[in-house]
Amino acid sequence: MEKLFDILIIGGGPAGLTAAIYGCRFGLRVLIIEKLNLGGTVMLTDKVENYPGFPEGIKGKDLGVLFKTHSYVYGAEYVSDTIRSIKEEGDLFLLEGESDYYKGRTVIVATGTKPRTLGIPGEDKYIGKGVSFCAACDGYFFQGKDIAVIGGGDSAIGEAIYLAALCHNVYVIHRRDELKAVRVLEDEARKMGNVAFLWNSVPIKIIGDRGVEGLEIKNIKTGEITILSVKGVFIYIGEDPQTELLKGLINLDEHGYVITDESMKTNIPGILAVGDIRKKPLRQIVTAVSDGAVAAYTAYHYIKGV
Ligand code: NAP
Repeated sequence: MEKLFDILIIGGGPAGLTAAIYGCRFGLRVLIIEKLNLGGTVMLTDKVENYPGFPEGIKGKDLGVLFKTHSYVYGAEYVSDTIRSIKEEGDLFLLEGESDYYKGRTVIVATGTKPRTLGIPGEDKYIGKGVSFCAACDGYFFQGKDIAVIGGGDSAIGEAIYLAALCHNVYVIHRRDELKAVRVLEDEARKMGNVAFLWNSVPIKIIGDRGVEGLEIKNIKTGEITILSVKGVFIYIGEDPQTELLKGLINLDEHGYVITDESMKTNIPGILAVGDIRKKPLRQIVTAVSDGAVAAYTAYHYIKGV
C-alpha cells in the first residue's frame, strides 16, 4: 500500500475502534488493520451489563456493531491483514502484513488477548467437537444437554449464565472454593437453578469418542477423581496478551503485557499500545475505549510536534 497514514491501528476491537474515531476527529488519516472481524472479542460476548449508558445491558454483538458503525462515520479506513513485523524507517513505521505493507507516522497496537488453554488430554482433539472457548458461538449446539464451564472469573460465570438458559445442567468447575467473578454474576448464576458449582476441582482429561462424552475431574483437596458426564466443555480460564509481534521491540512485563505510561506511550516514540494488551489493573471495555481515546490524542500531539 503506497499511501502514508498518520495512524496505523493494529486490531479492531473497542480500543482500536475508539482510537480510530478520535484520530479521525483530530483530522488524521487512520487505517485499521484487523486480521479477523472488526469489533473484537466483545462481538463474542453474550451480554455486557457494565458499559455506561446501557442500564438494561446490551448484547456484546450489538455493542461491537455500534463501535464499528461509529468509526465508519468519521472515515477511518480498514484493511483485513495479519501484521508480521513492525520496522522503524527514519521518522516513519513500516508494517509488514501477510498481504501488503503499510506506512505510518504512528502505530497504535490494539491486538487484545487470546483465550488461555488447559493443556490437558482431549482439549485439542475435541475443539469444535464439544470443546469451546465461545459460548455465544457454540452454545446453540448444546441445547438441552449437560455441559461444563471451567473457570471462576467474570467470563466463566457470565457465560455459564448464558449457557444455563440453553442447556439442561451447567457445571462450573473452579479450582478454589470461592469465585473470582463479581458478586452480581455469582448471584445471577445461583438464581438460574441449573448451575452447580464444583469447588476445589480441576479438569484433568476430556473423554470422548467422536465428540465430548465426559470430563475427568480431580478434587485438589481430597485427591478424588470423578467423571462428569457432559457433552460440552467451555473453557474460560483467562486470557494471554497477543504481543508476540512486539517481542524484542517493545518493553513487555514478565507476562507479556505491554508497559506504557498514562499517555499510552511505549518505549519506542511513535508506537502506542492500548486495551487488554497493556499492563494495567482493570481490563474492561470501558478501560479499553479510554485507552483508545488517550492514544489518539497522544498520536496527534506526536505528529504535530506539540
Ligand atoms: P480471569 O479474571 O483471569 O479469571 C480466570 C479464572 O480461571 C480464574 O477464576 C482462575 O482461577 C481460573 N484459572 C486460571 N487458570 C486456570 C487453570 N489452569 N485451571 C483452572 N482454572 C484456572 O479471566 P476472565 O474471566 O477471562 O476475565 C478476563 C478479564 O476480562 C478480567 O479483567 C475480567 O474482569 C474481564 N471481564 C469482565 C466482564 C464483565 O465486566 N462483565 C466479563 C468478562 C471478562 P483463580 O480464581 O483461582 O485465579
